[in-house]
Amino acid sequence: MLQLADNLKRLGTETAFEVLARAGALEAEGRSIINLGIGQPDFKTPDHIVEAAIKALRDGHHGYTPANGILPLREAVAADLHKRHGVEVNPDDVVVVPGGKVTMFFAIMMFGQPGAEIMYPDPGFPIYKSVIDYCGAKAVPIVLREENEFAFSADEVLSQITPKTRLIILNSPANPTGGTVPKAEWDKLVDGLAAHPDVAILADEIYSQMLYEGREHVSLLQYESIRDRVIMLDGWSKTYAMTGWRLGFAVWPSALAATATRLAVNCHSCVNAPTQFAGMTALTGPQDAVHEMVQAFDERRRVIVSELNQIAGFRCVDPGGAFYAFPNIEGTGLSARDLQNRLLEEAGVATVAGTSFGDYGEGYIRFSYANSVENIREAIKRIKACL
Ligand code: PLP
Repeated sequence: MLQLADNLKRLGTETAFEVLARAGALEAEGRSIINLGIGQPDFKTPDHIVEAAIKALRDGHHGYTPANGILPLREAVAADLHKRHGVEVNPDDVVVVPGGKVTMFFAIMMFGQPGAEIMYPDPGFPIYKSVIDYCGAKAVPIVLREENEFAFSADEVLSQITPKTRLIILNSPANPTGGTVPKAEWDKLVDGLAAHPDVAILADEIYSQMLYEGREHVSLLQYESIRDRVIMLDGWSKTYAMTGWRLGFAVWPSALAATATRLAVNCHSCVNAPTQFAGMTALTGPQDAVHEMVQAFDERRRVIVSELNQIAGFRCVDPGGAFYAFPNIEGTGLSARDLQNRLLEEAGVATVAGTSFGDYGEGYIRFSYANSVENIREAIKRIKACL
């Protein structure tokens, strides 16, 4: 018998990938499936970005790069953050990694160990809790509530800090809820954090460019008082429809950048070179495709929220960002998992149960509206017929 390490028993997963696999299997049997499960843009990576990667390969950029990423890419990241958030970033504090997930893995590995506490949003991206559990730290949920439009309460976050708290993970705009956090709440949180100088913050800002109805992104990098303990996670996956390229970055506190790079050396050496060139072109080239994509998401958002609110037993708050709707489904009398399974098997609509995002996701299911308006309308029609 092979004897695997005990901590592997605590490692969780991301159910969206299981739903994707099941949806694929049903399609292979000839069933028609509308996929509102997986969280990735249905648009193609813009051509000029693809061309940049091809050119990089033709130019001979196929070897290892520095583990933290090529300098011109890190400089482009710093310039982009200055343009978008008005902040000064030293390119030496930027570490380029294969996707947003890798930053979260590194950050949790840095602080997670038995005896430590790490706070994470619930419902939230499932990998946070999975990796906290894996490290043996205590996972402390920050409960996000529908009546608060799924924004955290700064008072609640601050009240949960103990002498053992090492890291607080926050995500806005959020997966799976589409919730965004108002600036006043961020201000309050940052004020309160002054009393807890040993606590680091991982700000997952991967949906920072996907905001609707005039909402503006608040980046934690904008708060000078905590810059020495903010890890800001962002990347190209969502903004530039590049999920499969595997490209992300973080701005680390200067004191942690070398440790993050050391983890990169141990783990993946570097991101593949042509993808880094593509990422550079994405940041420095025209942004029209990003704006068009966000506009399309906004249109779909309006359609899906209005349609979901017309399903008996459903109630959906307006998501302010990302590309997810997270309706309350308690009125159907079904658990989130039962409803997810029924919608997939009987209606041919892939969604993800709220419980895949934490215990506080019971009573909700996630719809990714990264699909055409036509498909969204058809999916709702099928759901109504099924229920
Ligand atoms: N953070 C959040 C909140 C996400 O929803 C996702 C992906 O769904 C990620 C990070 C990971 O992004 P990537 O595909 O770049 O690893």
